[in-house]
Amino acid sequence: MTTLPRLLPLLAVLLFAAPARAEWHHREEAIMGTRVAVELWSEDAALARRAMDEVIDEMRRTDELMSTYKPQSQLSQVNAHAHERPVRVDAAIIEVVERALEMSKLSGGAFDITYASVGYLYDYRQHQRPNDEQIAAALPGVDYRQVQVDRAAGTIRFLREGVRIDLGGIAKGYAVDRSIERLRRLGIAHAMVNAGGDTRLLGDRRGKPWVVGVRDPRNEGRVVTRLPLEDEALSTSGDYERYFEEDGVRYHHILVPGTGRSARGVRSATVIGADATLTDALSTTVFVLGVERGLQLIARLPGVEAVVVDDEGRIFHSDGLTQPQ
Ligand code: ADP
Ligand code: MG
Repeated sequence: MTTLPRLLPLLAVLLFAAPARAEWHHREEAIMGTRVAVELWSEDAALARRAMDEVIDEMRRTDELMSTYKPQSQLSQVNAHAHERPVRVDAAIIEVVERALEMSKLSGGAFDITYASVGYLYDYRQHQRPNDEQIAAALPGVDYRQVQVDRAAGTIRFLREGVRIDLGGIAKGYAVDRSIERLRRLGIAHAMVNAGGDTRLLGDRRGKPWVVGVRDPRNEGRVVTRLPLEDEALSTSGDYERYFEEDGVRYHHILVPGTGRSARGVRSATVIGADATLTDALSTTVFVLGVERGLQLIARLPGVEAVVVDDEGRIFHSDGLTQPQ
């Protein structure tokens, strides 16, 4: 006798039982010149959709406010006029600029959003870079102490001409943090939000940690280590994100504020910490400081860890991390 007649009712039960729809939801979009991804758990598909919409909205809003590629963005207005008069901006810009200035003090100027005063002369897509004279002429504009924030008035002012700021080293982390906050408010308990090199995890992956790979800076499909994480942020800065090569030299997008030239000695710096605004700014900072001074800074910061790959491919990590597997 065949078992088919007995199997059929069972199959029907399984099919009807399936749409309980408690599951992982996923979305990806290109925003802020990078790939934005959100993954979350919700038993309510409509809520999941709304939550993912809010994350995408948050990223778009940050981009509209803070992009230096959009001439009408508030940040572009700051760069155009803040040397003449205080420029009013959204509270989000005030907050990001204040956190950036704190990071400048903490890092002795290795992290400096006024790097852009010389940074704007580079065009990595067009393989363009400034010559020595152009760098020397622009360097006086690189000094975070020339940026004045008036929190009460909601304004930003530059104390001299020739200053420009760019939030590329911190704004994505900020947008990721804001997104996680929105998800939390909607009652989401397990999520991952990622914007380019910046990731934050909300909760765990339901009973197990999230596992985030740190990519091999010279081999896209491979990782140098995998880190199990919960409720934490992780950012990587790499010399492979935006660069061009000329006579065997790699000109990339992370600049030493004091020289106006690409930082040397590191291929990638990854920082793990409580929030993504911090880890984003710190990964850029550690990249600029180099292995030794970078890890010294990390050792001073409670709850913050780092993995650095140097220009020979050697892997270094902070004391709080076990040997990367
Ligand atoms: P990404 O994820 O885009 O690679 P990173 O966190 O690695 O971002 O930061 C690189 C970006 O930081 C650059 O594209 C530039 O906008 C900005 N930046 C470069 N050098 C500095 C610096 N010394 N201080 C602050 N920001 C910088
Ligand atoms: Mg960064």
